[in-house]
Amino acid sequence: MRQRRAFTLVELLVVVAIIATLMAVLLPALRKAKEAANRVACAANLRQLGLAIYMYANEYKGSLPMTEYGFGGRGSWICWPPQADIAQSSLTPYLRESLAKVMLCPSEDLASHSPMPYGPYPYSYSLNYWVFAPKHVRRISRIVFPSRKIFAIDENAQTIDDGCFNIFEAAFSGKNFLSNRHSEISGNALFADGHCDFIDRSLCGRSYPLHSEYFDPFAP
Ligand SMILES: [Zn+2]
Repeated sequence: MRQRRAFTLVELLVVVAIIATLMAVLLPALRKAKEAANRVACAANLRQLGLAIYMYANEYKGSLPMTEYGFGGRGSWICWPPQADIAQSSLTPYLRESLAKVMLCPSEDLASHSPMPYGPYPYSYSLNYWVFAPKHVRRISRIVFPSRKIFAIDENAQTIDDGCFNIFEAAFSGKNFLSNRHSEISGNALFADGHCDFIDRSLCGRSYPLHSEYFDPFAP
């Protein structure tokens, strides 16, 4: 009977080298595919938030939910105090227990959020201050060119400190940048007509002049 020949060390090394080469070629492609899927899921989250904002406005005669302090007051969408209960968000009646999940980008890394005195902000998205801050309370019907006005962004993990972003702070203080989770060039944004787009990060970053045509609800 013929005896089976064992692999030589050289043959084994060749096989290992081939596997390592294949892994090196395939892994970046797999990572890229996973990130593309996360980007789509992130946009779906933002669209769901947009739908909930519309349902809120429908119930409150066209008023928008508010950002900023005073969590628990009627209209507050979500703020940052760690003790705040997301069940009190003005959007909870429309998304119920799925709200906490919808507010997290699938590529989010909460550990990289800025450590704030009151604790890091535990979600990924923030609303446009110029539209949603209490002193700017807007009626949805008064927004000019809603298909161009940004409601919410997927905010950068290093700059997110609450559920509100101000384009002024992005331009002048280096805060409130658009996320680079999915790309260094573009990030997800929700628009006032409910659509979501992968926009250039320079629109919401340290850049001047301000792109108020995207952020000021009354800009033509
Ligand atoms: Zn995202």
